[in-house]
Amino acid sequence: MAEFLTTKGTSYHVEKIIIEAKSQLVLVSPYLQISKTFYERLKDASANKVFIKIIYGKDELKPNERNSLAELRNIELFYFENLHAKCYFNETKMVITSMNMYEFSEVNNREMGVFIDKNNDKELFEKAVNETLSILQSSEQIALCKTERPLYQNEKKISDVKHAKYKKVIRGYCIRCEERIDYNPDRPYCGECYSIWAQYENFDYQENVCHRCGQYEATSMNKPQDYKCYSEWQKETK
Ligand SMILES: [Zn+2]
Ligand SMILES: [Zn+2]
Repeated sequence: MAEFLTTKGTSYHVEKIIIEAKSQLVLVSPYLQISKTFYERLKDASANKVFIKIIYGKDELKPNERNSLAELRNIELFYFENLHAKCYFNETKMVITSMNMYEFSEVNNREMGVFIDKNNDKELFEKAVNETLSILQSSEQIALCKTERPLYQNEKKISDVKHAKYKKVIRGYCIRCEERIDYNPDRPYCGECYSIWAQYENFDYQENVCHRCGQYEATSMNKPQDYKCYSEWQKETK
């Protein structure tokens, strides 16, 4: 018999499904966000030669998240615009739930779910697998290669600036939350993160992201860019 789940049970079983996958893992979630723990789990599964399919639909992955996924083997990413279902399964176990992928650690959310074991509910299990396959067929596969980011102004604008020696970077990343913001090494936080930072004004407080290229790097208000980006910026401002 299928088993009814509340928030805790849902998190528990989904995590178990990922950990115990032997050959295949399918994750269907409109909203995707790759937390560190979640990424570690996927990494383990991928190292264990599990074929992973992730179907998402609502918002775009951040470049860092896409790049991290691109480092894993046996993983395929699919985009389906009208996706609303959330369903997670491996060869034998499945959870159908209200819970999005990124909400696993949100203990305060009230979620519901149903846990299905193929050995006990074969027909139910297979119906949900077939529906997932049908969604997959209408999905667009997202290429998982490391992406160069569009940091630069487009060519037309550059030709307007006759004296420009280098392509000028105009968009950067908040060094705390990765949000796209204007490129300005003196102001490397988005508004929200800045107001939190400003409560302490610790110029050396360690953040996670390079303001210029968005890669994971130890940065701070004092040093908002990694070494490579810092030297690029130096060249530009000479
Ligand atoms: Zn921010
Ligand atoms: Zn950088």
